[in-house]
Amino acid sequence: MQYFLHAYVNGDTWTNAALNTAKFIGHRKYLSRKVRGWSTAFILDREDLPVSKYGGAWTKSRIHDEDLKSELLTHLQSLGKYVTAAAIIDYLGQPDVAKRYRLKKAISLATAERWMSGCGFRWTMAHGGQYVDGHERDDVVTYQQSIFLPAWYALEPRMWRWSVIGGELVEEQAQGADSQSHIVTWFHDESTFYAHDHRKKRWIHGSETPTPQPKGEGSSLMAADFVSADYGWLRSPDRNESVRVLFHAGKGRDGYFSNDEIIRHAEKAMAILERYYQHDDHVFIFDNAPTHVKRADCSVSARNMPKGCKEWGIDVPVWDANGKIVLGPDGRTLMTKACISNGFFNGSPQEFYWPEGHKHAGKFKGMAQILTERGYDVTNLKAQCKQCASGATTCCCWRILFNQPDFINVEMILESTCSARGFQVIYLPKFHCELNFIEQCWGYAKRIYRCYPMSSKDADLEANVIKALDSGLNGAQAAWAAKKYHGHRVLPSAILEELDNAKVN
Ligand SMILES: [Zn+2]
Repeated sequence: MQYFLHAYVNGDTWTNAALNTAKFIGHRKYLSRKVRGWSTAFILDREDLPVSKYGGAWTKSRIHDEDLKSELLTHLQSLGKYVTAAAIIDYLGQPDVAKRYRLKKAISLATAERWMSGCGFRWTMAHGGQYVDGHERDDVVTYQQSIFLPAWYALEPRMWRWSVIGGELVEEQAQGADSQSHIVTWFHDESTFYAHDHRKKRWIHGSETPTPQPKGEGSSLMAADFVSADYGWLRSPDRNESVRVLFHAGKGRDGYFSNDEIIRHAEKAMAILERYYQHDDHVFIFDNAPTHVKRADCSVSARNMPKGCKEWGIDVPVWDANGKIVLGPDGRTLMTKACISNGFFNGSPQEFYWPEGHKHAGKFKGMAQILTERGYDVTNLKAQCKQCASGATTCCCWRILFNQPDFINVEMILESTCSARGFQVIYLPKFHCELNFIEQCWGYAKRIYRCYPMSSKDADLEANVIKALDSGLNGAQAAWAAKKYHGHRVLPSAILEELDNAKVN
């Protein structure tokens, strides 16, 4: 490369210089191409030199290290739909990662970008010719500007701040927090673990009989939890009481973490926080990302509900593990039937499907039964008017349900349930799942999980998931994540700029 670059600088053309260099050391065209490639990479990034191993054999770039690659991929996927090359730099900059892969220096942005493509990412329009970056959508921007960012900045002065000084985590003095209690933000989300997701073997010797690998992802286990940057997973101080929920997704009807389950989950969290963490003020942060549209798909809506009891659900798209919509063989969105989420009435959940043991177990109760349970007399009511009179509220079953609080705004129930007990709720802006740092916690646990021996047994799956999650986030790591969160300003710079422009007080 040195010879080649000298030749080029001294006036030879790029191609000729490479050819002459190759000839000079007794090689041909192939090497001249290589030399040009290496040199281009080197010019873009002075850290990017081909590594010599075993006396002369050039090794490939580090991204061909399968473990590193799959670890990066897991991490990038955990960030959701909008990943950037900078995420690779941040990730490899973490002390534990840098140590494991013996990385001495941060990689450059140019290298990170090549690694992104090594991980299979391409800068491209979303399939179907439509660019679906919701970041710029008017309603999303408005939400950020007028609700999310002001709410966050109002809380921020009272949040804990952490710094790493000489490898030690040190609490920074929060500005203006002298006499007030701290605010702890708890991020909520779910994630799915798959039985057959494990670290791939790198090399198999020719004489070795390959072990048959099970096909598909195997059974899966969904975990839902709350995490804060200050305390880690939401637990009692002795770690015996936990809010973690594990459930088998896709089996029978618990495929969705529905709204009333989230409310029950929040109630469990509030109970622990009230008992042990009264000295802090607590705020819950919930996701509002496209990967969670499945909840909205199934959330209560009176449209086309049958009046009587019958087998009934709604069409929802099929989502894969990464939150992408699955397409059928015809190229269209694959749809499946799903039960709608249950309702909420007078402060408690209302089942919309008959429970086990009932003669119609599993069937939809029907609007008439649902309204009767809510104290309405529906004897002479139609299911739905052809055209409801304007202003009418009780003309038909559909209209009455339409005006029920849980049908008007599903999110409101969660919010009011929490605020009634003194807990604030903030929703992340839609399409901004990267702001939810619980994603990094899932990613960390999944890295550990993938190192365990693979098993198709549900019991092993569950045991491994628990082990991985528990070995994950302790206080120090949580604080490190916090440092990352505040220190590196995880809020996308574009939003911060917008915020500065808007001069939010
Ligand atoms: Zn009507």
